[in-house]
Amino acid sequence: MNGTEAPGGGTKRRARGCPVCGRPRDPRWRPFCSRACRDRDFLAWVEGRYRLPVIEEEPDEEERPADAGRREGG
Ligand SMILES: [Zn+2]
Repeated sequence: MNGTEAPGGGTKRRARGCPVCGRPRDPRWRPFCSRACRDRDFLAWVEGRYRLPVIEEEPDEEERPADAGRREGG
């Protein structure tokens, strides 16, 4: 199968650019426009995944029940 995109297609599709900056994305770094944006998104993902818990000033605290994760409507 050949995944070549025909230039000048007929469908009027809204060009969706880089999800990070919105610039036209590069097939090399898709769906991003550059490595910088790709790394940026990746880092954001990693930070969210390995986010360190905020340690309150309570050293003598035993296991606390995990707070219910608050989600933002998206
Ligand atoms: Zn970008």
